[in-house]
Amino acid sequence: AKKSGRGGVTWFNRAMEHALIDRNDIENGLRQAIPAGQIVPYFEPQIDLATGRLCGFEVLARWVHPTQGIIPPDRFIPVAEDSGLIAELSLAIMRQAFAAARDWDPTLSLSVNISPYQLRDAWLAQKIIKATVEGGFAANRLEIEVTESALFDNLALAQSIVGSLKNQGVRLALDDFGTGYSSLAHLRALPFDRIKIDKSFVLSMLDNADSAAIVNAIIGLGANLNLPVTAEGVETDTIAERLAALGCAKAQGWNYGKPLSIADTRRMLAARGLL
Ligand code: C2E
Ligand code: CA
Ligand code: CA
Ligand code: CA
Repeated sequence: AKKSGRGGVTWFNRAMEHALIDRNDIENGLRQAIPAGQIVPYFEPQIDLATGRLCGFEVLARWVHPTQGIIPPDRFIPVAEDSGLIAELSLAIMRQAFAAARDWDPTLSLSVNISPYQLRDAWLAQKIIKATVEGGFAANRLEIEVTESALFDNLALAQSIVGSLKNQGVRLALDDFGTGYSSLAHLRALPFDRIKIDKSFVLSMLDNADSAAIVNAIIGLGANLNLPVTAEGVETDTIAERLAALGCAKAQGWNYGKPLSIADTRRMLAARGLL
C-alpha cells in the first residue's frame, strides 16, 4: 500500500511539473505571439432560426503557432487570464476582427468574448469603443459575451463599464447560461440583451430528457424576460428545427459551419453576396 501511495505521489508531482512547464512555455510564447500577430480571430456563423439567414459571427481566438499549428483557446486563454495578458490579447483580437468586418454586409454582427477579469479595468469601455472607431466598425454591430461570477467582485465597476458600452449601442450577452457560476441572479446584475445556452445542453437534447427540459426552460425564461436566446453547439438540422419550434432566436454550431479564418470568411461571404 505504501509503495503504491508513493507511486501516486511521484505521478502527481510529475504531472504538476509538466503542467507548470507547459504553462510557462505558453505564457512566454504568448508575450511574443500577441505583438507578432499570431493570435488571430476565427469567425463562427450565427443563424437567425426564423428566417435561416446568416446574421453574424462569434469571434473565437486561435493561436497560429509557427511550429505547433493552430492552438485552441482553451489552452491559452486561462494562461492569458492568470498572467494579465488577457487585456492585450483581447484588444488584438478585436482590432483584427473589426478591421476585417468593416466592409462586410452591415447587417452582420460580431459577438466577442470578454473575460470576467477584463471587467475590473475601469478603461475597458473606452478601449473597446476606441478600437471600433479606429477599425471603422459601427459599435451597434458589436455584442459582448460575458460568463461567470468574477464580475461580482466589483459589481459597481462592471455595471459602469457595461453602461458605457451600452450607451454606444453595444449589446450584452450572458454566455454559457446554465453552467458553472452562471445563475438566475446574474440576469439581474447586468442589463443583458441576450442569453446563450451552453452547448453541453444542446448537444445532448435529443437523447437526454433533462437536457431537453433545461433547454426548454431557458428559452421560456428568455421569452418571459424579453431576452432572445442563442443556442450554441447546434450540430444537426433536427436539433435546429426543435430549437426553432421552442422559440429559440439564433443558433450556431457545426450544422452551419466551423469557425473560419478571416480569408475563408471573406470567401464564404463573397459567394453569398454579403461583401
Ligand atoms: P465559448 O464562448 O462557449 O465558445 C463556443 C465553443 O464551442 C467554441 O470553441 C466553438 O468552436 C465550439 N463549438 C461551436 N459550435 C460547436 C458545435 O456544433 N459542436 C461542438 N462540439 N463545439 C462547437 P473554441 O473556439 O475552442 O473556444 C473555447 C472557449 O474559449 C470559448 O467558449 C470561450 O470561452 C473562449 N474564448 C475563445 N476566444 C476567446 C477570446 O477572444 N476571449 C476570451 N476571453 N475567451 C475566448
Ligand atoms: Ca462565447
Ligand atoms: Ca465558455
Ligand atoms: Ca459555451
